[in-house]
Amino acid sequence: MEREKSPSKRNRRWLFAALRIGLAIGLAIIISQFRLNYLEGFFYDMRVRTRPAPHTSGQIVLVTIDTKTQEQLRRLPNADDFVHLFNQLHKSAPRQVLYPDDFNEIMGSYDQLEALAQAAKSVNLLVIEERELPDQGVEDEFRLLPPLQDLDVESGPTTADVYNFARDGVSRRLILDLEGRPLAEMKVADSLTGRNSVTDYRGVFTFKRTHQAYINYHPTGTYPKYSFVDVADGYIPSNVFKNKIVIVGKDNKADENDYVMTPYSRDLTAMSTAELQANMLDTLILNNAPIQVPYWVNLLITCLIAIVTVLIVLTLRPGRGLFILALTLTGYLFCSWVLFAADGIWIDVAHPLLTVFICYYFFIPYRLIIENRRSWEYYQRNNLLTQVEELKSNFLRLMSHDLKTPLARIQGMTEIALRDTTKLTPSQREAIKTISDSSQELTEFVGSILNLGRIESKEIKLQLKSRDINALLSETIQKLDYLAKQKNIRIVMEFEPLFSVKVDEDLMRQVFSNLVENAIKYSPEGSSILVTTEESNGRLMVQVADQGIGISADEIENLFTKFYRSRNVRDGAIKGSGLGLYLARYFVNLHNGQISVESEPAKGSTFTVDLPMDL
Ligand code: ADP
Repeated sequence: MEREKSPSKRNRRWLFAALRIGLAIGLAIIISQFRLNYLEGFFYDMRVRTRPAPHTSGQIVLVTIDTKTQEQLRRLPNADDFVHLFNQLHKSAPRQVLYPDDFNEIMGSYDQLEALAQAAKSVNLLVIEERELPDQGVEDEFRLLPPLQDLDVESGPTTADVYNFARDGVSRRLILDLEGRPLAEMKVADSLTGRNSVTDYRGVFTFKRTHQAYINYHPTGTYPKYSFVDVADGYIPSNVFKNKIVIVGKDNKADENDYVMTPYSRDLTAMSTAELQANMLDTLILNNAPIQVPYWVNLLITCLIAIVTVLIVLTLRPGRGLFILALTLTGYLFCSWVLFAADGIWIDVAHPLLTVFICYYFFIPYRLIIENRRSWEYYQRNNLLTQVEELKSNFLRLMSHDLKTPLARIQGMTEIALRDTTKLTPSQREAIKTISDSSQELTEFVGSILNLGRIESKEIKLQLKSRDINALLSETIQKLDYLAKQKNIRIVMEFEPLFSVKVDEDLMRQVFSNLVENAIKYSPEGSSILVTTEESNGRLMVQVADQGIGISADEIENLFTKFYRSRNVRDGAIKGSGLGLYLARYFVNLHNGQISVESEPAKGSTFTVDLPMDL
C-alpha cells in the first residue's frame, strides 16, 4: 500500500526537483555562451541543401566567359569582343548589365576602349568592384581609368566566413550598406523594387560598420546561363535578355578567385562570382533572406531542451530514456528544418544539441549514484526481512513441534475416556467428543505448519513408490466419509482403470485429502461431489468437482498462496488455515505436475491435478 508522504518529504522532493531544473537551466545558459558557429554553419548548410530550392525572381540572366568562349577566342575577350557583346545585348534592351569584376583588365587600344565605353553606356553597364567604398570626399579614386572613367562603378564586396561566423570559408552573407551608404546590390535592388532603406529588407543584421543579410541560395546552375561568344555572335534570341538584369562574369575554372564556396558545396569552384551575384541580388529583389531568431529565443529553446533532457534522464528507464531523447532530438531537428524550409526561419541547432549531450552525461552519473543508494537500501531491508522470515519460520517450527506431543496425549486420553461407555453421561460424552474433534483439527493445523517449515528449509525429498492412484483416492475418500455423512453429502467416484505411477504416497495423499476435505467443507448440506480420474496423452488427471460456494474470479490467482483464504470464508464460520492449497500445489509441482481450478461463485468449483505418468 502506498503510504501518504509527509509534508516535509514532499517539500524536499519539490526542492530537489527545483534544484535539478535550476542546474539544467544553468548548464543551458553556460553552453549558450560558447560560440558554436562552425557547427551551427554546418547544420545551416544541411538545411539549405535538403530543403526544396526556392523560386527565383526570373529577372536575372547570366552571360559567362566560359571554357567554350576561351577555346573559341583562344584568349580572354578583349575590348572588341565586349563591344560586340554589348551591341548584341543592346538590341534586346536589357534593364541593366552588371560586371562584377575588374573592368580595367579588359585589353584594347585607347580607341577600342573608347568604343567599349560607348557600347557599355548603351546597355546601362554597372561595374561592381570587390573593393570597399572609398571614404567620403575621395570617391574619385573609385573611378575607372580613362577612357572608361564615366562608366558607373559601385562597391560590392562579397563575403566569406573566413575570420568570423563559421570560419569555414563559405560565402553565406551579403552586405547591404557600409556606414549607411548602400552598396551595389542594394542599389540595383532598390531601383527595381522601389525600396530605399535597409529596414525595408528582411533578415538584416548589423555587423561591424555594415548591415548584412544571409543569402537565400539556389543550387549552382539555377539561373539561365549563356556563353559569352554565343551572345556576342548573336546566336541567342534577343527576347531572352529583354528587360532583364544581365550579369557578365568569368566561369572558366581558371582562377579560384572567380569562385566561392556555398552552403551547397565546399568545392573551391562551387559557384562563380557572377552566379553568387545573382543569388545576392535575387535575395534582395524577392526580399526573402533567411531570418535568424533572436538570441533570447534560442536561449529559451536551449533551456527547455535541457529541462526535458534532465527529466528524461532522471525519471525514465535508461533504454526508454535514450529512445525518447533520440526521438526528442530528431523531432527538434525536424522542426528546425520545417521552419527553415517553409519560411527561411533559422533556429539554433548546435546549442540545443550540445546541451542534450552535456546534460545527459552530467546527469547520468547523478542518477547512478541515486540508484546505487536506493539498491543499497533495498538490500539492507531485504536482509532484515529475510532474517525476520527465518525467525518466524523457526518459531513456528519449534512451536508446532512442541505442540505435537501434548496434542497426541489429549487425543489418546479422549479416546480412552470415550471407550468407557458406562460412566459417562450423554452431555459429558458430547463434551469429550468436542475436545477430541478440536484436538484433531489442531493436529492437522500443526501438521500443515510443520510441512510449511519443511518446504521453506527445502527439507522435503520425494520418496517415490509405484502406486495405484485410484486406490490412493479411494482410501482418502473413505477416511473422509464420516465428514461427508455429517453434511449428508454424497461423494461419487468415476475412476478410469489406470496403470500404477511413481508418486510420494504421503504427499499425494495430503493433496487429495485436502481437495476432498475442502469440497466437503465449502459445500452445502445434501449436495454431491464428483471425483474422477482419467489418463490421456501420458498424463494423469484427477478432478474433484463440488456444488459449493465457489470462488470469485479475481481471487483465483491468490488461492494457492500461503495463508490465503477467500473473502466469503473469512468470517470464520468455516475453519481453515489457508495452507492446504499452498502445500498441495507445492507437492504437485514436486511431481512435475500442475494444479488448477475453475470456479463460479454459488455454483461450485472443480480442482484439477495433472500429473505426468512417467516422472
Ligand atoms: P483452508 O484451510 O482455508 O481451506 P486451503 O488452502 O485449502 O485453506 O484453501 C484456501 C482457500 O480456498 C479457502 O480458504 C477457501 O476460501 C478456498 N477454497 C478452497 N477449496 C474450495 C472449494 N472447494 N470451494 C470453495 N472455496 C474453496
